Amino acid sequence: MSDCIFCRIIAGQIPASMVYQDEHVVAFKDIHPKASVHVLVVPRKHIATLADAEAVDQSLLGHMMLALPKVAQSQGLDTGFRTVLNTGHGGGQEVFHMHFHVLGGKALPFTV
Ligand code: AMP
Ligand code: ZN
Repeated sequence: MSDCIFCRIIAGQIPASMVYQDEHVVAFKDIHPKASVHVLVVPRKHIATLADAEAVDQSLLGHMMLALPKVAQSQGLDTGFRTVLNTGHGGGQEVFHMHFHVLGGKALPFTV
């Protein structure tokens, strides 16, 4: 989608600090980090929110989950990390191309 900022990052039209890429997923540093490590893990396929994912996306969602620890390890988060997935306005989502946040490093700013 040409008006989606994450699709534009994936297409190389907007710069981002990439930390991981594979066939289905990219990961780049959040532009406004909420922790000392804050990376977004984004499917190459445009899916607006988790609530818009369909049965055909099942293997992609599994692939994303398995990418999370790889991304965390690449950022040195050896003792663990937090994942956040905001869904819809009610879930605090601001960019409507679904993505996982991977957070870690120095003391995390909040608990769940
Ligand atoms: P969410 O509220 O879950 O939709 O999170 C969107 C995240 O995208 C926020 O943490 C923003 O700081 C981040 N963000 C927005 N634009 C960019 C960008 N161009 N590059 C990297 N991160 C971005
Ligand atoms: Zn998109």
